[in-house]
Amino acid sequence: MSHDNKTRDCVFCKIIAGEIPAHKVYEDEYTYAFLDIVPIREGHTLVIPKKHYDYSENMPDDDFAAMMLVVNKLKKNYKSTFNVPQVGFFVSGWDVPHTHVHVVPMKDSKDITSKPLLDKTAPKFTDTEFERTVRKIRNSLQNQDN
Ligand SMILES: [Zn+2]
Repeated sequence: MSHDNKTRDCVFCKIIAGEIPAHKVYEDEYTYAFLDIVPIREGHTLVIPKKHYDYSENMPDDDFAAMMLVVNKLKKNYKSTFNVPQVGFFVSGWDVPHTHVHVVPMKDSKDITSKPLLDKTAPKFTDTEFERTVRKIRNSLQNQDN
């Protein structure tokens, strides 16, 4: 499942391989995390397994658990980094067929929906601004215990 024909065209596999640039915030042996280029809020992150799995329910438990530990690590961090009351996450799987968890710093209960994108109240960032967010997250993660 990790290197069939489908993965050659997979945007997320190319990001992990460094063939497509991304605003990486975290990486370990199993998991990779980078900023969504169409964010709902500043810090909106995609957490993905390094191996190509189409849907999360098809992942081995160990790889799924490793991915979710990173989700929780970021959730703990983003509350203070982005000064928000809640950090939500969701898996929808409609756009790219490589499992990804959206982690979203939430200022409003509607932030976990597409409402900010549809209403065009979602922020737009330049590359420089995305990189500033990356530095903010990485610096903050360095000072975090787990
Ligand atoms: Zn992939």
